[in-house]
Amino acid sequence: MAVPQNRVTRSRRNMRRAHDALVAGNPNECSNCGELKRPHHVCPSCGHYADREVVAQANDTDLDDDAA
Ligand SMILES: [Zn+2]
Repeated sequence: MAVPQNRVTRSRRNMRRAHDALVAGNPNECSNCGELKRPHHVCPSCGHYADREVVAQANDTDLDDDAA
């Protein structure tokens, strides 16, 4: 098994970890519903992308076509 040849000091360990912080996302407002969404992604709340609906929402479609 590989074993480190030298001890990594607190300073060098922390310098390595200085770049490890997570960065926040960059959400945009949906132009249709105003919800925050990821840029260049379909809006998860209304299914719109570039001012048109590309993903039908479950509450918009009638699932009981066979009934009545
Ligand atoms: Zn939307």
